[in-house]
Amino acid sequence: MATLKDFRNNIKPNWCPGCGDFSVQAAIQRAAANVGLEPEQLAVVSGIGCSGRISGYINAYGFHGVHGRSLPIAQGLKMANRELTVIAAGGDGDGFAIGMGHTVHAIRRNINITYIVMDNQIYGLTKGQTSPRSAEGFKTKSTPSGSIESALSPLEVALAAGATFVGQSFSSNLKQLTTLIEEGIKHEGFSFINVFSPCVTFNKVNTYEWFKEHIVDLEETPDYDPSNRIAAMTKIMETNSLVTGLIYQDKTKKSYENLVAGFKPEGLAKQDLKISEQDFEKL
Ligand code: SF4
Ligand code: MG
Repeated sequence: MATLKDFRNNIKPNWCPGCGDFSVQAAIQRAAANVGLEPEQLAVVSGIGCSGRISGYINAYGFHGVHGRSLPIAQGLKMANRELTVIAAGGDGDGFAIGMGHTVHAIRRNINITYIVMDNQIYGLTKGQTSPRSAEGFKTKSTPSGSIESALSPLEVALAAGATFVGQSFSSNLKQLTTLIEEGIKHEGFSFINVFSPCVTFNKVNTYEWFKEHIVDLEETPDYDPSNRIAAMTKIMETNSLVTGLIYQDKTKKSYENLVAGFKPEGLAKQDLKISEQDFEKL
């Protein structure tokens, strides 16, 4: 059985020392080993940005795609080979700006893959411009007088788009992040995990210390029920999207590939498919 070291390769990441993305890489490697995967059973697909390099640093199948397109590639991969565990990963610029259309539709499509966003509230690779996650008033090279746009709340968007798994974590909390990725991999459907992954070089506002002060961990709310969608939306809004943990999970909905005619896996019952008996027999 594979262990953590089997998911390591000998490529040295060229992220800046202290970048939050190191922990996300470690958490993916740990989670993959913990759920019992072998490297050849995992594919990591990434977009463009500092975080996009992650697919090259994990010993598994890797695909470094184009900007904002990790999800179309990852979904195609899963449809072509449903035996693979597929993780898509990228930054907030990649997933919530150029890639936002794909993000919303991948969420509502509910293909059984895991999407991890390394959210640092800035464009790091291009040396520090305002991203869709930057707060109002945030000063960067592209907004020297402060951003006048509102920051996007990806968790609210995910819930509104019909997500079946919504989680959020923080690079400094490797234990929670690893567990969340494990749960995301095991979830039968699209798992959306947003990770506060500080850019230590260009974002001097949303630092590790800032997150530690502002994060609201669901561990502090033991009676929280992640199956309650309304409670999930309320919690996200109450905490200004700074809540971490498993925020929402719907275990009842079937994933997309299990509902596509011609892709019927062994043992899928007629009543699981929203199609007529006649159509079922044709599968
Ligand atoms: Fe990480 Fe920022 Fe450095 Fe990019 S520029 S590697 S996001 S710390
Ligand atoms: Mg970013």
